[in-house]
Amino acid sequence: MTVPFLELRSAYLELQGDLDAAYRRVMDSGWYILGREVESFEREFAGYCGARCCVGVGNGLDALSLILRGYGIGHGDEVIVPSNTYIATWLAVTQAGARPVPVEPDPATFNLDPARLDDAITPRTRAIIAVHLYGLTADMDRINEVARRRGLKVIEDAAQAHGARYKGRTAGALGDAAGFSFYPTKNLGAFGDGGAVVTDDPALARRVATLRNYGSERKREHEVKGSNSRLDELQAALLRVRLRRLDEWNERRRARARLYASLLAGTRLSLPSEPPGTEHAWHLYVVRAAQRDALKRALEARGVDTLVHYPVPPHLQPAYQELGLGEGALPVSEAIHREVLSLPMGPHLSEEHARQVGAAAAEVAARA
Ligand SMILES: *Cc1c(COP(=O)(O)O)cnc(C)c1O
Repeated sequence: MTVPFLELRSAYLELQGDLDAAYRRVMDSGWYILGREVESFEREFAGYCGARCCVGVGNGLDALSLILRGYGIGHGDEVIVPSNTYIATWLAVTQAGARPVPVEPDPATFNLDPARLDDAITPRTRAIIAVHLYGLTADMDRINEVARRRGLKVIEDAAQAHGARYKGRTAGALGDAAGFSFYPTKNLGAFGDGGAVVTDDPALARRVATLRNYGSERKREHEVKGSNSRLDELQAALLRVRLRRLDEWNERRRARARLYASLLAGTRLSLPSEPPGTEHAWHLYVVRAAQRDALKRALEARGVDTLVHYPVPPHLQPAYQELGLGEGALPVSEAIHREVLSLPMGPHLSEEHARQVGAAAAEVAARA
């Protein structure tokens, strides 16, 4: 019996009636770009996050780069990014014309280490992008404190953290602005590409709404050189159906994470943590193992599909050679990339499959 890493079709099958009805409603409306569905989704998702404004955009990468452009951050500016993140966080900074400055994580949480921020800030620094990696919110109080003291914007990369909570508040309302992705594998996934900017700042929301639509607020008037990055009516309608299940589906992830933790306690694997005051969204269940590649092969032999998020850090990708950060430049992140392994996780991972995964991993990573 093979356990797949993630079953996407199950999400459709569980909600088939409602999703098909939403699809028909949009097809019948004859209106496919920037209409009622996007407006409704924006209102509903802002409300879910506990923020005033939401602007639907084409994808998560654009959400982040449009926030930066909306703040006027670009050429000659520096933006602090985590050294261990998906490369999209860095690419958003590059797309805006600014320079990504990596800061190492706290190995206990995989997230940006606030104690290292002050040393990375220069007179050119304009913003900090905090990624809630794997679904765990970053240490936002300390990050916001540094930012306030140094006059910087705090941007959440919440692409992996729909519904994650920090001290009772929801990801998307923990900084000045947040970028979300609705790529199909995310906790709130569309059936294609999609993204959103969430913020309490109506002026920023208006600028992002202008930038996503050719720099135009009123038809045929173009105040700025914008992009074309809009959330489709169809995706918005489908997302509205899935948003109503987000908390319930995150609860299912939580139950599987709890099961993994109980089956893997006492092994040589280092397990993900959930610091006091946080509620992990369990986008990914990531363990650390010194012999990661051997563990991956052994699990494959036992019918368990795993993935590595991520095998090569952004600074060692050919795309970022110009920064001149070679092997050894960011050792905390490099060690994480060598040792992490993501176990199957999702709202449709059955308890039986999760038990099979946990038992196989516990057997391979013999007890300490
Ligand atoms: C998925 C992801 C993105 C990019 O989202 P897209 O919609 O694929 O552009 C950005 N940051 C992180 C951390 C992600 O996981």
